[in-house]
Amino acid sequence: MALKLFNTLSREKEEFKSIKDREVGLYTCGPTVYSYAHIGNLRAYIFGDMLKRYLKYSGYNVKHVMNITDVDDKTIRESQNENKSLVDFTSFYIEAFFKDLDLLNIVKADIYTKATSFINEMVKLIEILIEKGFAYKTTDGSVYFDIHKDKEYGKLSGFDLKDLKENALGRLKNDEYDKENAQDFALWKAWDEKDGDVFWETSLGKGRPGWHIECSAMSMKELGESFDIHTGGVDNIFPHHENEIAQSECVTGKEFVKYWMHNEHLLVDGKKMSKSLGNFYTLKDLIEKGIDPLAFRLWLYTSNYSTKVNFTLETIKGAQVALERLKKGYIALGDGIGIVDVNYKTRFVEYMDDNLNTARALSLVWEILKNKELSPTDKKATLLDFDKVFGFGLDKI
Ligand SMILES: [Zn+2]
Repeated sequence: MALKLFNTLSREKEEFKSIKDREVGLYTCGPTVYSYAHIGNLRAYIFGDMLKRYLKYSGYNVKHVMNITDVDDKTIRESQNENKSLVDFTSFYIEAFFKDLDLLNIVKADIYTKATSFINEMVKLIEILIEKGFAYKTTDGSVYFDIHKDKEYGKLSGFDLKDLKENALGRLKNDEYDKENAQDFALWKAWDEKDGDVFWETSLGKGRPGWHIECSAMSMKELGESFDIHTGGVDNIFPHHENEIAQSECVTGKEFVKYWMHNEHLLVDGKKMSKSLGNFYTLKDLIEKGIDPLAFRLWLYTSNYSTKVNFTLETIKGAQVALERLKKGYIALGDGIGIVDVNYKTRFVEYMDDNLNTARALSLVWEILKNKELSPTDKKATLLDFDKVFGFGLDKI
């Protein structure tokens, strides 16, 4: 019996072996705080939380770091639209983000790193990249990463530099772009008028960091040059995580992250969520429709994190009913707490060890509630044990 996790890097389910015995360094790409998180974003944080809970359940000490991107193209643009300073603007959404985490019973990360607090670390990395010839300065004072200098560029997303169209060779200042537009990307963006009062005076000149270098600097500062697991949504694979690997490994010459784990997209009514389609939901929207945030959590567990899910109001209402059934069933077990049932625990571990098969693990909850042979006190102990991973907050009932 061993924990197996799907690694995006190898495209295989691999046995999990931590770098240090019983210790795990875990980094989750956190929010860019320019608006409320939508339920697709929240899927990524629930996935990271479930993974962390299961690693702890399996006996690992986990150091969990999550970044908060409080300076990038979007935060600058939106703060200007609202006529607010960057700090005032992002503070509001940071607070909203933490409220969502609480409502979802997500265990706090050990460390939250704000990008604006790590500018020196970013500058240091960029200086090393220039020194080693992986990055170059342009006439406006910006610094770009030269993707053709990195022989391994593309290894995470399966992107082949040879496929790059000749006319695509160039430079991109934007933080976000797609594979079709893979080009040298900005590590440091020289100040221009559009940035307003957002800039830092550094040895690289007056400007601000690109989005990708932020995560390399923060993760390596807190977890070391090589660490165990990096998580995020599939939309982060390219370019963000590809670029994180390129920057970090070209600086250190070491493997940056051993296991890359990504949760799939959440669709709404079969479509990508968008405000213009009217299928855009935040946690507040669900609450207003009478849905407990934990029902959203439960609903996500009915599919594997690595498969696409389709959110509809009908299915989430079904999950709400299921959550209420679970709570009622749990309360009906009474006050006493017995011992954890070994057979159920063995099955729970077997399912979760198989790349976190929450759907099968969750089915045990209903089996336990229906079981006529197990005593109420042992049922309760077993459910509470599993809830360390599920996080439905049964211990608070
Ligand atoms: Zn990131």
